[in-house]
Amino acid sequence: MSTRCKFVFITGGVMSGIGKGVVTSSLGKILQFRGFNISVVKIDPYLNVDPGTLNPIEHGECFITHHVWDFKPVAGSDERIYRISEIDQDFGTYERFLGIEIHPSHNITSGQIYLSTILSERKGKFLGRTVQIIPHCTNMIKERLMQIANDEDLDILLVECGGTVGDLESDIFLEAFRQIRLELPKNYTAFVHVTLIPYSRAVGQQKSKPTQHSVKMLQSAGLQPDILIGRSEKPLEKEIKAKLSLFSNIPNTAVISNPDLESVYELPLLFEDQKLGDFLCNILDLKAKLVSYSKVNNYSEWLKIVELFKNAKETVKIAMPGKYFNISDSYISINDALKHAAVHQGYKTELKMINIVEDTNIEEELKDCDGILLTPGFGERAVEGMIKSAEHAMEKKIPFLGICFGAQLFFIAFCRKYLGLKGANSTEIDPNTPYPVVDLLDSQKDVKEKGGTMRLGGLKIIIEEGTQLFKAYKKKEIVERFRHRYHINSKYIKEEAKINGLVISSRDKSGIIINSIELNREDHWIVGTQFHPEFKSRPYRPSECYSAFMRACINFKKDKSKTI
Ligand code: GLN
Repeated sequence: MSTRCKFVFITGGVMSGIGKGVVTSSLGKILQFRGFNISVVKIDPYLNVDPGTLNPIEHGECFITHHVWDFKPVAGSDERIYRISEIDQDFGTYERFLGIEIHPSHNITSGQIYLSTILSERKGKFLGRTVQIIPHCTNMIKERLMQIANDEDLDILLVECGGTVGDLESDIFLEAFRQIRLELPKNYTAFVHVTLIPYSRAVGQQKSKPTQHSVKMLQSAGLQPDILIGRSEKPLEKEIKAKLSLFSNIPNTAVISNPDLESVYELPLLFEDQKLGDFLCNILDLKAKLVSYSKVNNYSEWLKIVELFKNAKETVKIAMPGKYFNISDSYISINDALKHAAVHQGYKTELKMINIVEDTNIEEELKDCDGILLTPGFGERAVEGMIKSAEHAMEKKIPFLGICFGAQLFFIAFCRKYLGLKGANSTEIDPNTPYPVVDLLDSQKDVKEKGGTMRLGGLKIIIEEGTQLFKAYKKKEIVERFRHRYHINSKYIKEEAKINGLVISSRDKSGIIINSIELNREDHWIVGTQFHPEFKSRPYRPSECYSAFMRACINFKKDKSKTI
């Protein structure tokens, strides 16, 4: 194994969902501040090949990369190819913090590793051998990591392992990390363990015991952490730091606080305050390079962005009618895109997630919002309530942005209300609808398998001049990311639809697929996009589409307060 790249492995302890992705991104950020060329790999130990078929309630949002990767489980064979662009939501966090476009091959799942191993065995790649987790699966993991490190000529590759230490499925990955540490020269690897430090109200103290157990578990896998990052409500107390240092066998300075923050983008700065960047570079024997002035990876520029987030005072209230609200991460890229757009206009967002059930009173729920964002989604549940929300927006002229499913449902609402098409629907929801105003894409008609089979990834969009969308982007050609099977059926956009104000504001480059619609009303900003502009929104560069929507929401709010 040879590489010039150094590795930072990030593992989790005590509990999942404590923001390991934000920690990994912040570590990446402080390395970028020092001028290093870095990237991130996320390991997901589940057996799914990719998270595309997972319900967002199960695992949070599914992020979409620009690139679509042809994953060949058997290297060099074209026999079976899986298209991967649907990846773990942590990639959204990485891209937002680091300003890099990450290739989908950076999301390694157990599903991919086992699939590759078994299919390679059937191809005779291990003839004469007993195929085993060690060395065959672990070798495959190591090869994947080395390939990324070398192909992308990286200084440092951060590798975040999903889940928590002790999960049965993550064992093979920890074992691969152990081997990498053994095989590479000293100073080529650093291990960062991120754990939860609970606070006991009864004793009035932060408690270290769960972390002690988790570090022991890591040590029994042959891994000694170099740095411990403690996630807690308040900064770590002095005594707890000393205790963690003693029991985890690491210096006091290597125990780092990760308390609740106003904005996640503050974490890299907090790490710098604790001298984590220098400490990490010391472990890896790296001297900081000269950093060029850049909005993305310059410390003082980042500081300004964080200020922007902290200084926004007035709120703008956005309602999000939808259905995957059992966990807060189901629409994380949308929430962030709204935030980015708002803070750049001096506002912070108040998001009202409306979990639509049968008896939800839509009008009541929407009555005090400044804008409505109709969420993406799949399947029948909550659909009628979402359609009603779009209708309500049209009636009350509330600024409205429909994303993907949200755009399709907006079109259904329009057809029912203005074209009199009673029972109009998407064939996804009602295959027998008399008016299939949203229907399967032609390219999807012969698709039988699920998983990586939708229209995916970053694609070119041609915008019609004079539209709201054009005013937002100020360009005729853009690239945004897609994930859908169904689309707005152009058959239903004839004279009558146009008379009632419906405008096709963009199409794909063939001119056949409708990529967005809107209503041409002077006094109402209402747009539906088949694409997902939220995936390209960054804290330092908000999405053009979300910014235009936010501008309309802020104006709506101001007008409302004038009339009261
Ligand atoms: N279910 C719809 C489709 O497949 C919308 C998907 C989405 O919102 N991402 O077209």
